Order: sequence, then C-alpha cells, then structure tokens
Amino acid sequence: MRHCLDCGMPVPVPRLQLDDLPPSMICPKCDADVFRQHDSRCLSRDIAHQHETIDRALHKLDALLVEGWQGTWQSLRLIVGGGRIREQVLGQLHHYQQRGRLRSYSEDSPNRGAIVVLLR
Ligand SMILES: [Zn+2]
Repeated sequence: MRHCLDCGMPVPVPRLQLDDLPPSMICPKCDADVFRQHDSRCLSRDIAHQHETIDRALHKLDALLVEGWQGTWQSLRLIVGGGRIREQVLGQLHHYQQRGRLRSYSEDSPNRGAIVVLLR
C-alpha cells in the first residue's frame, strides 16, 4: 500500500520483481501513475567494496532497482569503484535503459567510482 503523492488516495501496489520494471499503477481517484511519482530522494548504496564478485554486484544492482521502484525514490547512487564491476554495471544499466527500467544514468562527476541512476 502506498498513498498517491498527488491526492493522498491509498493505492494497493503489488510487491515488485525485476521483470515488473518499469511498473505502472493508476490512482483510481486522480489518474496519476503512482509509480511515476517521487519525493526527490536519492537511495545511495555501495555494491563493490565488500569483496563482491561481478555476479554478486549485478545481483545487488537488480535488488536496488526493485527497491527504488517499490519506494518513492527519484534516483539511485551506486558506489561501484573503479574496476571491472563498474564496467559491468555500466553495461547492465545501458541494457536496462533500453528496456525502460530507468530513465538515465551518469557518472557522479568528478567521482568516477559512483554512478547516479535517474529512475523516474
Ligand atoms: Zn491520486
């Protein structure tokens, strides 16, 4: 359950999986898509500095995307370091952007070890 940020109507939203992204749910009162609404906040997580393998880091990326869409976050800030995880994450983000699972992404200039992902 979440409340429409435009009109306050409680809207029952499903528990999301990666395959549900990008989700859509129309508010029955004001017709806004509640999954396009956000509160401007950024969810920041490190996915590369706890001895993650590339597979593990990509799994964390997927979980963060789902968490971001499930909540009302506007963006994600991924700490990816400067190595191979960063390259793989950038490739995956490109793929996800093609599929509409995020709006855009960019390096958190001048910090190349972080990527900011605009979800909605
Ligand atoms: Zn509404």
